[in-house]
Amino acid sequence: MKLRNIPFSPPDMSEMEIVEVSEALQSGWITTGPRTKEFEKLISICCQTDKTACLNSATACMELALRVLGVGPGDEVIVPAYTYTASASVICHVGATPVMVDSIPDCVEMDYDKLAEAITERTKFIIAVDLGGIVCDYDKIFAAVESKKYLFKPANDIQKVYGRVVVMADAAHAFGAMWHGKMCGEIADFTSFSFHAVKNLTTAEGGALTWKTRSDVDNEYLYKQFQLLSLHGQNKDAFAKTQIGAWEYDIIAPYYKCNMTDIMAGIGLAQLKRYPEMLRRRREIIERYDAALKDHNVQVLNHYSDNHCSSGHLYLVRLLGKDVEERNEVIVKMAEHNIACNVHYKPLPMMTAYKALGFDIADYPNAYNLYRNEVTLPLHTRLTNEDVEYIITNFVDIISK
Ligand SMILES: *Cc1c(COP(=O)(O)O)cnc(C)c1O
Repeated sequence: MKLRNIPFSPPDMSEMEIVEVSEALQSGWITTGPRTKEFEKLISICCQTDKTACLNSATACMELALRVLGVGPGDEVIVPAYTYTASASVICHVGATPVMVDSIPDCVEMDYDKLAEAITERTKFIIAVDLGGIVCDYDKIFAAVESKKYLFKPANDIQKVYGRVVVMADAAHAFGAMWHGKMCGEIADFTSFSFHAVKNLTTAEGGALTWKTRSDVDNEYLYKQFQLLSLHGQNKDAFAKTQIGAWEYDIIAPYYKCNMTDIMAGIGLAQLKRYPEMLRRRREIIERYDAALKDHNVQVLNHYSDNHCSSGHLYLVRLLGKDVEERNEVIVKMAEHNIACNVHYKPLPMMTAYKALGFDIADYPNAYNLYRNEVTLPLHTRLTNEDVEYIITNFVDIISK
């Protein structure tokens, strides 16, 4: 078979992104300004929420959400062991203590019973992960939170308003996903999306935080907090200062710098227009993979059903009966055919940083079992039908040996 070159997740850029970025560059305004505000509005519309704040990464979004809720030293935040480091590192950034929960056996979602058990009087926040673009079970997460509500000790006014552990979705993979008739973004209390270069919709780097409106929390207040925290604690952004005579500003606290630029938002505006078609194409590829693998000894994720529709971000395959070495060999053999694969995920307790915090993979056997035989196939919108057939033919050949 003729060799093809299949990268894992290259950015899908068209003439539309180039036009939007050129217009931003020529507009006289390249940092946070009208394009970022427009992008925020459109994201809210897509998510059926009222307000969105765009920042320079999903990591910044999650960290600032923790800060706005006043989570810090002495507090515990629950996160699955089976995720990317950003879901947990933000907990360390604010000085709180990460508490990791193992996965359900043979399922990438966290064990919801263990989640309920992990909630203590110190727990302030849960960061759930919508892995691969599939929204996890927020009914079970909110039920766990309700079952332990009596333990909750609010430490400030906003925590008092919630009166329970706050639930955030790390939806870095899941922009555009649906679950039980709701859009990802309107399910958890806060939802963070990533627009990093490898994600479904990209602004090169970037992220968005949206949240569920509550009658007892002022959305403008929340939005203002994210503006302050992401722009030095300056009470007027650079764009507001361009208004006549409006030079003066105050710094209310020595905050952070993680705003989105209008150049990034320009890429995002074009990607957003193309996004429905990109989601459709992802689904087509997933259905082709599913059909090709259904008679093999593998387990794949369920991206689509009557009551959920994934954003089709990652195609995880478990090679049943195989272990780490054989899995690694499959990845090497795929690479020999110029097909880049990956592993999602090496659980956090196996990483140096989290081992140093005292985590031990022996306490997360289900996450380890997910990891030991997992291969992620390329899934992106630059793949042609011929590429997809090439990947399937080689993969099936390699795993059948
Ligand atoms: C990519 C990713 C992030 C981080 O996104 P950034 O925009 O790079 O900060 C967080 N969580 C998960 C699960 C991710 O895959």
